[in-house]
Amino acid sequence: MIISKYNQLQKVPYLILLPNEVLAEICENLSPTDLYSLASTSKKLRNFLWSTSTITQQIWRNSRRLYFPQYKSQPLKDMSEQKYIYLAALAKKCQFCDEKEPRKLKKYWEFQVYSCECCIQKRIVSHKSLLKKHKIPEDVLSACLSFGEQGYFVPDVLTAQLEYSKTIDKFSWVTHKQLDVIQQKCRIISILLDEFHADSILRH
Ligand SMILES: [Zn+2]
Repeated sequence: MIISKYNQLQKVPYLILLPNEVLAEICENLSPTDLYSLASTSKKLRNFLWSTSTITQQIWRNSRRLYFPQYKSQPLKDMSEQKYIYLAALAKKCQFCDEKEPRKLKKYWEFQVYSCECCIQKRIVSHKSLLKKHKIPEDVLSACLSFGEQGYFVPDVLTAQLEYSKTIDKFSWVTHKQLDVIQQKCRIISILLDEFHADSILRH
């Protein structure tokens, strides 16, 4: 029934004339995959469905809860519902090289990427190397999430370093960022527990 509703939607050009409240009602009960497909049908729908507005986030949240109820946890801090469900359930290929072999792919919640081992290794640098070789201040690294002992995601480090260099009150910035890191780690653990429970149900 939902699929036929979606097929009907694709055939209605008047859809783009509708106000957002009505669009939201139409999108109700569509799966995240359908929402992704619908977003590619027109500019208006793309703008509406890629938005981070409350109404759009609610649509994606409802869709996640309906179609992927195992993901009970809230998204990571500053992560949209669209990105959350993409990383949680929809990503099927390495976002850097398009590798599609599931055994070679892995979610890295810490860096918010879905990647093959080869591509992620090119983008991770160890704590020691960042400190000694690249002269990144410890303060900057303490503001970034690491993937265990393997290291830090270079784009995250560069962003943090730029912010740090522009900040006048560095002590407050570091304190604030360190709290963010703790909060983010808690949310990652919560998501991993959701995945663990879903896997253990599947195994039994
Ligand atoms: Zn790759």
